[in-house]
Amino acid sequence: MTDKKVLIWNREFETMSRSDLQKLQLERLKEIVEWATTHVPFYTELYANAGVSADDVKSLEDIARLPFTTKQDLRDNYPFGMFAVPLTELRQIHATSGTTGKMTVTGYTAKDLEVWGETMARVYTAAGATHEDIVHNAYGYGLFTGGLGFHIGAEEISAAVIPVSGGLSKRQIEIMRDFGSTVLTCTPSYALVLAEEAKAMGMDVRKDTRLRIGIFGAEPWTERMRLDIEEKLGVEAFDIYGLAEVIGPGVSVECPYHTGLHIAEDHFYPEIIDPESGEPLGYDQLGELVFTTLTKEGLPLIRYRTRDRTILRTDPCPCGRTMARMEKVLGRTDDMLIIRGVNVFPSQVEHVLLEFNELEPQYVIYTDREKDSLDTLEVWVEATQSLQDCGAAAIEGATDKVKKAMQETLYVSTVVKIVEPGSIQRSGGKARRVVDRREMP
Ligand SMILES: [Zn+2]
Repeated sequence: MTDKKVLIWNREFETMSRSDLQKLQLERLKEIVEWATTHVPFYTELYANAGVSADDVKSLEDIARLPFTTKQDLRDNYPFGMFAVPLTELRQIHATSGTTGKMTVTGYTAKDLEVWGETMARVYTAAGATHEDIVHNAYGYGLFTGGLGFHIGAEEISAAVIPVSGGLSKRQIEIMRDFGSTVLTCTPSYALVLAEEAKAMGMDVRKDTRLRIGIFGAEPWTERMRLDIEEKLGVEAFDIYGLAEVIGPGVSVECPYHTGLHIAEDHFYPEIIDPESGEPLGYDQLGELVFTTLTKEGLPLIRYRTRDRTILRTDPCPCGRTMARMEKVLGRTDDMLIIRGVNVFPSQVEHVLLEFNELEPQYVIYTDREKDSLDTLEVWVEATQSLQDCGAAAIEGATDKVKKAMQETLYVSTVVKIVEPGSIQRSGGKARRVVDRREMP
């Protein structure tokens, strides 16, 4: 591996020895269990019913004795039942709408905002951003944690932040060019929307702007999409992970070696479990990611099941950070579709599509149930302009190839439709990749 320029925001913590880190984690784990048990009736009851208490946590392994928490618990205790402080102690309140069920509400005390700023400062620094950068923050500002999370982090590193938020892509491109934006933060699908918009405006982002870094997250994306974004925008693209319940963006981020996403483990304790049995799995094993917030005051979450599948690694990273790395999350167990008894992850579909250079990474998956109650899977994907220009026979040939590849990967026969470039609806926020018509009236 070639030497890369590595910047680290907080060496004291980000490069501490694993044994010191574990001591710190255990200390903080005991504190947070005690804090939650004495301040949140939900935890008092949960642990009383399970016959466990803070005193039972004598080692990090003992965390497995504590019951899990889930998104359903947050919904059941809507809006503020899981909070450990009175509302007057909160400085920000956010919520996620979710496609099903009630909103889940999160909140931050002044101390929580400091932790958020710190972890987001680590994110920017890992990506190579400094106070000299101009951050073009195209994450949506609002109840969604993306916008304000990236904003707080940019302030923490003393960069100039442009709170442009999502949408109005043409104006975004003008701002990027005229204000000299150097760091772009948004969802990966929106980064591609911006690239297309710039092209339509006759601009070459690589030459006509100063963009050099992109930090993208809030939806799954693949290596092919990374290459595509890097090529079209002339940036080095970094993957970031977070979820509103845990803190928002800032849970983990890639370093310049792109060997996985370093987790801020001194604040968020990760575990990998078997999603079926709930048994803990070790490092290097694929399973469901579970987080315990070690320092969060307002909304402490202990053994919170994320539904995201990944692998944790602790082998040394050339950047010098000792914090464990998680592999890029490629799908949420919630997103899994069951088609005629076969498990299908949208990320698998994306993988197949991205193998084809003649396709744009813009697609929608439709599922439906026919009269004879058989589930159908239909994938619409955009042709590149060059494939489109080759005419109907070329498109038909490509369709057959994609269909065959789908069958081989998914083990489910798939209807494939290659549509004109630009015809799939773009959004300013998270891309809507799956339309499950089976549940619709
Ligand atoms: Zn690293």
